[in-house]
Amino acid sequence: MKASTYPLLDASEVERLVLELTPILGAEELPLERCRGRVPAADILADRDLPAWPASAVDGYAVRSADRGGSLRVIGEAAAGRPFDGELEPGTAARILTGGVLPAGADAVVMVEDTREEGVMVTIPDTVAPGANYHQPGADLRRGDLIAARGEPLDAARLALAASVGLTTIAVHRRPRVALMSTGDELVEPGGRLGPGQIYDSNRFALGAVLEEAGAKVVPLGLAPDEPETLRSLVVEALKEANALVTSGGVSVGTHDLVKPLLERLGDVHVGRVKLKPGKPFTFATLPDSRVAFGLPGFPVSSLVTFEVFVRPALRRMQGFRQVHRPRLQVRLDYDARAPGDRTEYQRVTLKRVGGELVASSTGSQSSSRLMSLVGAHAFVLIPPGGDGIAKGTIVDALILDLPA
Ligand code: AMP
Ligand code: MG
Repeated sequence: MKASTYPLLDASEVERLVLELTPILGAEELPLERCRGRVPAADILADRDLPAWPASAVDGYAVRSADRGGSLRVIGEAAAGRPFDGELEPGTAARILTGGVLPAGADAVVMVEDTREEGVMVTIPDTVAPGANYHQPGADLRRGDLIAARGEPLDAARLALAASVGLTTIAVHRRPRVALMSTGDELVEPGGRLGPGQIYDSNRFALGAVLEEAGAKVVPLGLAPDEPETLRSLVVEALKEANALVTSGGVSVGTHDLVKPLLERLGDVHVGRVKLKPGKPFTFATLPDSRVAFGLPGFPVSSLVTFEVFVRPALRRMQGFRQVHRPRLQVRLDYDARAPGDRTEYQRVTLKRVGGELVASSTGSQSSSRLMSLVGAHAFVLIPPGGDGIAKGTIVDALILDLPA
């Protein structure tokens, strides 16, 4: 077994490198109902004012404010979608419903609750102000307003704005197709017969879940043995229809660790070791035709932590998100933290709100095989190596996965 020749890079340097070398995918035109969460490839500006005409905000009477305090003759009705096409002369009013167009001549709407109706006549208060109870044209949206910005995902309000100006489709960035494979001779499909020393493949389910959550379309490739030619042909086949490859296992320096040499054959390996615990053997390569490959370590916690730190931001970049990183917040440690060795440790913690602060508690043993250290975790706290560690009560940076209630 030879020692790894890859330089041990800082996690922040690796984050930067991965993003720099990951392409942004092109756009596809999709109907609005399929655009939720997708990222527009260009800014979308309103091509009109909304409302387009003065629109009543209430049910009542459209009046001339100069007639305040008077008894007016009702000469028609403006319902939503059915305007009154006459004009109000002095001493007249028109019944109007919410969303109805303010008739010509009117400059105010009186709520029905404030009127007294008698046959064809209606009496209005002596306090009616011009402009009352209707929305001016352009009050909600002005022609030229930015209704959806490039790089920002489409949410309910933005989709509704797009519909309200008559759009039916939006050009959004494509979602990456990601081939996912677990490697290792010890792995068996869950439910299968376990031979001596064998375990069930669990990484595939964890990584499938976080890939989907990050917006990827997962192309499942199942299990690959620790055998170079089989592994190579599976990967080459998978890459025909994928933008990215995610593998787990086989990136250490053991004689059965075949992923790095394979990626060396297929493309360029830019990262082979990171000063990160867990996840030191994380591997990143670029492949021909603008594809990228992420070789994640086999230990279940290592694969999920390196996914969060490096892969998720890359997948979001592919999809055009401006904001690719999880939020970082300052939290107060409620335990003495130490990072053994020479790497920054991303310790899994739960958070609770105490006063105005977030207080972090360890999820217990931080072993890279112990998935229970991730269960219920709200954040990773970044504990630098060396010294006496960080004392309980200290404020540290945390990468937030989820906030407590
Ligand atoms: P490796 O990175 O291949 O050296 O694997 C490191 C450790 O993670 C070993 O104990 C493996 O058995 C375990 N491991 C690798 N792949 C998986 C997987 N897909 N599911 C669960 N454990 C795994
Ligand atoms: Mg292995």
